[in-house]
Amino acid sequence: MRTCMFCSNKASTKEDAWPKWLVERFPTSNTSYMEAERAGKTLGSWRTGKRPLLLKWLCKSCNNGWMSKLESKAKPVLESIFCNTLNELTSLTQLTLASWSVKTAMVLEALDPRRSWFYSDDERHSMRNLQALPPRTSVWIATCVSQPNLYSSAKDHWSTPAKDGCHAYVTTMAFGSIAFQVVSIKTSAVIPANVQVTYDVAEGPWDETLVQVWPIAQESIAWPPKYGLNSEIGLEALTERLSVGA
Ligand SMILES: [Zn+2]
Repeated sequence: MRTCMFCSNKASTKEDAWPKWLVERFPTSNTSYMEAERAGKTLGSWRTGKRPLLLKWLCKSCNNGWMSKLESKAKPVLESIFCNTLNELTSLTQLTLASWSVKTAMVLEALDPRRSWFYSDDERHSMRNLQALPPRTSVWIATCVSQPNLYSSAKDHWSTPAKDGCHAYVTTMAFGSIAFQVVSIKTSAVIPANVQVTYDVAEGPWDETLVQVWPIAQESIAWPPKYGLNSEIGLEALTERLSVGA
């Protein structure tokens, strides 16, 4: 029996991977999954065709319950960004966007049939039960210019070629004029939970482009940031932000 990725119920055969209202708003989608190593060897990429993308790992009670509630919290915030009426991200707004984007990253990961999932059962169950974000997770958002589509891409990065060091999983998503980047890191057990893990990023005006919404560092953040990401080229630069030394 195939079970739901967020609980232990029997999964329904086909649930939409993307929220319906988003799919209706953006007519095309571009989803790709890539694996990368610090040594620079790309292990392969996989691109899906046209949406709608259907997922076999969700149950109806998750999809119509907590996921739908989270969707209805996030939708007005996203709509206010699409119509340029948002000028401030409160801590509550930051939390909503962070939970929603990590939930979406977890769902998108399940679209790749070849992956062994980065997020654990415990992390997905905590998302379902508490909308709790996994440890060592950061979320940034940015604005996009000339980007009319749904876009998503996921990359793995390891600190060592043998893949026994730190493992970062980076999900980059865009919906029209807003982009999200979710970075989660798993370390070996010898690194205590309170030790911060840092990583290099590619050069770029990221401080003026990205707004960090998780962990919440400021009660209120002005929106939009100074720079936006230009077209799919800008999104690809964001996707490759952690591909340093590759
Ligand atoms: Zn479920």
